[in-house]
Amino acid sequence: MRDTQHRARKRFGQNFLHDQNIIQRITAAISPQEGEHLIEIGPGKGAMTQSVLEYIERMDVVELDRDLIPILTDRFADQITIHNTDVLKFDFCQARHNDQPLRVIGNLPYNISTPILFHLMEQLACIKDMHFMLQKEVVERMAATPGNKDYGRLSIMLQYFCRVEKLFLVPPGAFNPPPKVDSAIVRLIPHEQPPVELESSETLSRLVKQAFSQRRKTLRNTLKGLLNDADFEACDVDASLRPEQLSLEQFARLANRYTEPHQ
Ligand code: SAM
Repeated sequence: MRDTQHRARKRFGQNFLHDQNIIQRITAAISPQEGEHLIEIGPGKGAMTQSVLEYIERMDVVELDRDLIPILTDRFADQITIHNTDVLKFDFCQARHNDQPLRVIGNLPYNISTPILFHLMEQLACIKDMHFMLQKEVVERMAATPGNKDYGRLSIMLQYFCRVEKLFLVPPGAFNPPPKVDSAIVRLIPHEQPPVELESSETLSRLVKQAFSQRRKTLRNTLKGLLNDADFEACDVDASLRPEQLSLEQFARLANRYTEPHQ
């Protein structure tokens, strides 16, 4: 299929970047260096790919829409290795050469951006950094700090795994077709050392999900059945607080308490 014949598909979250200034600004933020191993999620017709390949000789791309594959092959030939598969099933660590850490980039399909982020959090040992375009609102949730209305499970879990840097906003007009929402570029750098001690990130995830299931209620209420007043006291956390008032460190203490045998 020729580039001009491909129609953007909503179910694949297809909004193709066309604003060259924005594309160059994103590439400058990524700053690809020769010899690095970059993998792009959802290259589409190759707007970002083209720009990145001005700096490095080759890269990998993961694209689900098989109608885009001939377009990518025509445009980039052997400069790219195409993985025509669902990124949620893609094993990033397997794609490495000689244990070289990966740089993952992508203008992500917004309908599955959170599952993609959590899929990547399981493979951080193979990843050096990540640069993504996401819905602005999602980036705000990822970067939010305690006390902020956007602070929640996504902020806590991602900040446990990575340093989250919100870089800049991208307006709908930079895409074709334009999405209904504003977008933003975010940089994620996996922590070398976890910022808090944690027995199990799954337990943290479960506890945080439960705590934010009713964000207006106190922790005593939402975590009833999981932690009692003595547990809160042992963790030095005030049970009358609402979840959005708690730091990652305080949530980690509660999660560790829950993991330990207690009563
Ligand atoms: N990078 C291109 C650009 O900026 O013009 C396209 C970005 S578009 C927002 C998202 C891309 O992700 C599309 O090419 C779409 O086909 C692809 N995609 C959607 N779901 C996917 C999945 N589960 N796995 C891999 N790619 C997917």
